[in-house]
Amino acid sequence: MTSWKDGPADATALSTYECFDCGTVVEAESNPATCPDCGGELRNRSMPVE
Ligand SMILES: [Zn+2]
Repeated sequence: MTSWKDGPADATALSTYECFDCGTVVEAESNPATCPDCGGELRNRSMPVE
């Protein structure tokens, strides 16, 4: 199992966010808050869902 979450920061400090509504994936340094495609709510994919 690769613990990439806990590894050293890569070249960028971008986090990945995924739209609840349309599934668009956005990479940003801070939470972009809304989907650029549909305006839906984004969730941080690096956060545990549970
Ligand atoms: Zn969307």
